[in-house]
Amino acid sequence: MLRVGITGGIGSGKTTVCSIFERLGVPVYYADSRAKELVNTNSELQNKITNAFGQNSFIEGAYNRAFIASIVFSDKEKLELLNSIIHPFVLNDWEVFCHEHAHCSYVIKEAAIMLETDSKNSIDHIVLVHSPLETRIQRIQKRDKVSEAEIKARIESQMSEDDKMKLADSVIYNDQEHSLIEQVLALHQKFNLL
Ligand code: ATP
Repeated sequence: MLRVGITGGIGSGKTTVCSIFERLGVPVYYADSRAKELVNTNSELQNKITNAFGQNSFIEGAYNRAFIASIVFSDKEKLELLNSIIHPFVLNDWEVFCHEHAHCSYVIKEAAIMLETDSKNSIDHIVLVHSPLETRIQRIQKRDKVSEAEIKARIESQMSEDDKMKLADSVIYNDQEHSLIEQVLALHQKFNLL
């Protein structure tokens, strides 16, 4: 079974692309939403977070996102610590997902951060979803109601598109000139044959 990774910067269209693959019957693992679920359900992970950040990390078993965010927002080391605690649990959960879908010809992992970390090591083929900067800004503004400056700051804090393009195995162009569905169908055919 092939493990495909789908990544891209904020507002590039990762989730939109993955929803097309899902319509084709391909199992998709959404790493960010699984991580959110794991912090609320995995007691071993909850203990590790409590040991690192204190009792206020959970309120009656529920992850106290606002409290954790207030700590990691302006402290890079604390953010790295939080990621280093959650990361192995997500990797393990991804392995379970792959095992459960071992009969499929391929599965997809969708994650905003993939090319930047060692999570790419558990992937056979990485697809980058690429959109023009202006399009991304317009889409995020429409979806999240945040300012252009805020979006630009978020984009600039991520790895550059040029670097991502160099590291990716395939690129899906989510713009006005390319058909998203045709690109997804071409990759679907390729992955079924690999
Ligand atoms: P994020 O990482 O910020 O969650 P994402 O990369 O998963 O973003 P999407 O959520 O798929 O991106 O897309 C961002 C927004 O742009 C969504 O509201 C989506 O509906 C819209 N969008 C994406 N691609 C297209 C497209 N080809 N045509 C029209 N709207 C699109």
